[in-house]
Amino acid sequence: MSKRVINFYAGPAGLPLPPLERARDEMLDFAGTGMSVMEISHRSKEYEAVHNEAIGLVKELLKVPDNYKILLLQGGGNLQFCMLPMNLLWGGRKADYIVTGSWAKKAFKEAQIVNKDAARCIASTEADGFRRLPFANEIVVNPDSTYVHFTSNNTIYGTQFREFPDTGDIPLACDMSSDFMWRPFDVKPFGFIYAGAQKNLGPSGLVVAIIRDDLLASCNPSLPTMLKYGTHSDNNSLFNTPPTWSIYVLRNILAYNREIGGLDAIEATNLCKGEMLYGCIDRHAGFYKGYVSEPLHRSVMNVDFHLPSSDLDDRFVKEAKSAGMVGLKGYRDLGGIRVSMYNAVTVDQVTVLTEFMEEFARKNG
Ligand SMILES: *Cc1c(COP(=O)(O)O)cnc(C)c1O
Repeated sequence: MSKRVINFYAGPAGLPLPPLERARDEMLDFAGTGMSVMEISHRSKEYEAVHNEAIGLVKELLKVPDNYKILLLQGGGNLQFCMLPMNLLWGGRKADYIVTGSWAKKAFKEAQIVNKDAARCIASTEADGFRRLPFANEIVVNPDSTYVHFTSNNTIYGTQFREFPDTGDIPLACDMSSDFMWRPFDVKPFGFIYAGAQKNLGPSGLVVAIIRDDLLASCNPSLPTMLKYGTHSDNNSLFNTPPTWSIYVLRNILAYNREIGGLDAIEATNLCKGEMLYGCIDRHAGFYKGYVSEPLHRSVMNVDFHLPSSDLDDRFVKEAKSAGMVGLKGYRDLGGIRVSMYNAVTVDQVTVLTEFMEEFARKNG
């Protein structure tokens, strides 16, 4: 048995072990075909069963209503930054953007490239270093908006919308790349949801998207074929060769998520991890200084903090690595430490980290 590290990388990130072991066991002979899933036609019944199971599991786990389509797309989260406005911001339509971090800013920038006057930033916390989210009274939606775009979890700054913005009848459009399926949520206020897979779902490149039928029907019909959501929806995300291996791994992970009790169970675990880590940070508030200024906006997926000096930050990362924990170095512009604890990170692993942190604070505080 090879040695597995405790993985706190921000993305690509650790995946749960049983779905990986399943992939290993099925690598050379998938579904009795005598081939790996990478080697078989995407039109075969064996592959199609996996494909449909993955889509069905998204629908089941999130209770996605029937008036939504689930799409499996390529190009990462970044392609959706332009694909969404290309499809929806045409014919005089406009949209509002909430800017709470680097990814949100990129999404807004791409929308402006697509249609300069149509994309409007209605709230930003950049002046506060993205240390918090806008409060409800700071978000004033334009009534002529086709959608309001936001980023549910800010991977770099460590803030997370526990409550989604209330935009009344105007549908939300959300980049959920770094917290998709960390808990159950009501899909109905959303017109569009997208998530790059490499944080909580599987291999990079793959994107899971959910689009409401009325928005789908209103997409710009004159786009190139591959850029139209309708192309992928009309063809059950099999218009061209999909990333079959990535979708297979996604299927394994979603099937495992169901097996361990679905999103309610996953949420309970994630909340427990958050309490443990923030509890440790708060117990040593003079030593571990959290980046986020508003406790209600703290993310349970990505946790940023600084030690009293950058020398201590470096020592922390190094000693943690010797103790079997990787991926703790902070984002390059922020420094400090970032702990990413997506669904695959276990309570036991966070216990190892917090015990290490207690000991490190005692020795160096
Ligand atoms: C990682 C991440 C992305 C980037 O997605 P790519 O797949 O690299 O294009 C986008 N948005 C958020 C919130 C992310 O965390």
